[in-house]
Amino acid sequence: MLQADTSIKYVKGVGEARAKLFAKLGVETVSDLVHLYPRQYKDFSNIFSIADAPLGETCIIRAIVDHSPVEHRIRKGMTLYKTVATDGHDIVHLTFFNNPYITKTLQEGQEYLFCGKITMSYGSYEMSSPTVEPLSSIGKLRPVYPQTAGLTSKTIERVMTNALTVFAPDYDIIPKSIREEYKLCSLGYALHNVHFPQNRNDMEIARRRLMFEELLVLQLGMGKLRERNRGYTPYKLRHCYSETFEEMLPFKMTGAQVNAVADCIRDMGLNEPMNRLLQGDVGSGKTCVAASVIFSAKYNGMQSALMVPTSILAAQHYETICRFFSKTDIEVALLTGSTRAKEKEEIKRRVKNGEIDLLIGTHAIIQDNVEFARLGLVVTDEQHRFGVKQRMTLKDKGNNPHTLVMSATPIPRTLALIVYGDLDISVLDELPPGRQKIDTYVVDESYHERVYNFIKKHLDQGLQAYIVCPLVEESETMELTSATEYAEKLKNESFRDYSVGLLHGKMKAKEKDKVMSDFASGKVQLLVSTTVIEVGVDVPDAVVMVIENAERFGLSQLHQLRGRVGRGKNKSSCILISDGAGENSRKRLETMRKSNNGFVIAEEDLKLRGPGDFFGQKQHGLPEMRIADMLDDVVLCNQSREAAKEILSTDPQLEKEENRALNREVQLLFRDTTYTSD
Ligand code: ADP
Ligand code: MG
Repeated sequence: MLQADTSIKYVKGVGEARAKLFAKLGVETVSDLVHLYPRQYKDFSNIFSIADAPLGETCIIRAIVDHSPVEHRIRKGMTLYKTVATDGHDIVHLTFFNNPYITKTLQEGQEYLFCGKITMSYGSYEMSSPTVEPLSSIGKLRPVYPQTAGLTSKTIERVMTNALTVFAPDYDIIPKSIREEYKLCSLGYALHNVHFPQNRNDMEIARRRLMFEELLVLQLGMGKLRERNRGYTPYKLRHCYSETFEEMLPFKMTGAQVNAVADCIRDMGLNEPMNRLLQGDVGSGKTCVAASVIFSAKYNGMQSALMVPTSILAAQHYETICRFFSKTDIEVALLTGSTRAKEKEEIKRRVKNGEIDLLIGTHAIIQDNVEFARLGLVVTDEQHRFGVKQRMTLKDKGNNPHTLVMSATPIPRTLALIVYGDLDISVLDELPPGRQKIDTYVVDESYHERVYNFIKKHLDQGLQAYIVCPLVEESETMELTSATEYAEKLKNESFRDYSVGLLHGKMKAKEKDKVMSDFASGKVQLLVSTTVIEVGVDVPDAVVMVIENAERFGLSQLHQLRGRVGRGKNKSSCILISDGAGENSRKRLETMRKSNNGFVIAEEDLKLRGPGDFFGQKQHGLPEMRIADMLDDVVLCNQSREAAKEILSTDPQLEKEENRALNREVQLLFRDTTYTSD
């Protein structure tokens, strides 16, 4: 009998070697395994004849094999296996690549199901690399699992069958009363039917229950957070100094900025700590709002911390904020991965004894056990890059400090309620005056030379440009190689006469800072980069942003990248280079061309890609969801929120016996929240 926390090594068909492969999918225990849900299902209730099969779409046909597949060696490393099969009316040619076993699998005169795409070539039907399925599958839905190197969906399916025959949960993490009220099936039923449903209806009952569970756990987590954030804070703001701050600024704050500052000041005047999200498009001036609030905090006797995701950004904020505070006696310090040990000790000492008013840094701030004398305000910039957990850890440093989190990733309203369930929200919906529109062009790869010439024209005028490298999805190492090679190529060929810098995620903090400061000072004219520049970097003379493989990025991410230009007085452009394939990707890029509004773009992104992708992109800093396709089911969302409220109203910390299991899940979910590191 397997327990939920038994290692999957002990599941029949796994063993040490496969266990390692499963670990790559994040699956280590039996419980992890049974919660590895199918991404989709193959529907064996719908079997086509060869002639009726929709061309070019994945479908299942039933056919008798004429002869065992014959080997054709094409070249080294490439062997084809070919045979033909018939359904009694038509013939289909089957081809398999580098799969010697297929000669044993397919026997002359036997009937099989083939799942794949039928195409038409010179008047005959063909199917390339179909999967072969037994006739016993007919009528069923069969799961399709996410795959990783060495683990096929079929292997996972086999292991899952073995696991589920010996693992039947006799517990349920959702309390009975809630299950009855919202008509949810039991966990055992749900697990069986999410993997091996007899029909679509059973599968949907199972998925509804699992989705509900996931949403419930998430919202309980958010609810607990909100609850924790309540309570008394000693850092009550007594006087507001935002007008004094504004008088020192070289510009006039926008109405939206003034309102946002007022929201914060109001929150901080209460006995409970502020918990506010400041949402504003790139360039809307969030830093300035934060500076104003930090200013008031200082003259009310509080220390503040400002946490950002990368050291480049930390350095830049440090500079900007020092400029804002140049006429004041506010002591600001910068602490990042590249701060020297000796200096670090000195800063920590001065933070601890209260000499430093504002500490700016990366998550080094939470890792290096910095102690504050009277931390009253914690600001987190680009919040979507941090997990909720990291926010909490920083909060834990103080005695119920106020928190302000800032994000430039607009989240559609429907999702905001869930994602930011623990926060009040202020929005900067107005850009400072005089901002110009960034011209956006979508071109295909044949334009490379022209694009390079366009960049050179600007570099010759003393301006600067970014090129964001082609994305490599396979691995970080490959991404690195490709970025390095790409930069080398530009350096040696098209941009021989210019100074080219390279920035990528694997560089040491110090190296990054060096490249970035060279770019900021104009020493580097063209910055070739992976997406590490995405967040907040501000170089006013950078006027051209070129993005390779634009179709592979999320729209919100493209919008963030585009926001790196158009920060000075000069006309700026963004060029999206794409292979031009696909109706959908064309439409998405078209959205970028038409709109400069982050909220519009986010809505569109959500519509065109669906919430799965939206969330997959880790745009929110929340744990990744396994199943919940939130927007598809607003009703379920609302129900789970109600249920969460109900549970928390009688048991705010989930301590009752019946809520123990839920509490454990909440902790697990938030434990898994990942950092985006430097
Ligand atoms: P965000 O972080 O929201 O993307 P920043 O805070 O970096 O935006 O501000 C972008 C630029 O606009 C900065 O150079 C900042 O000094 C400037 N800025 C901010 N507020 C105003 C304003 N009200 N008027 C003019 N410029 C402003
Ligand atoms: Mg910013």
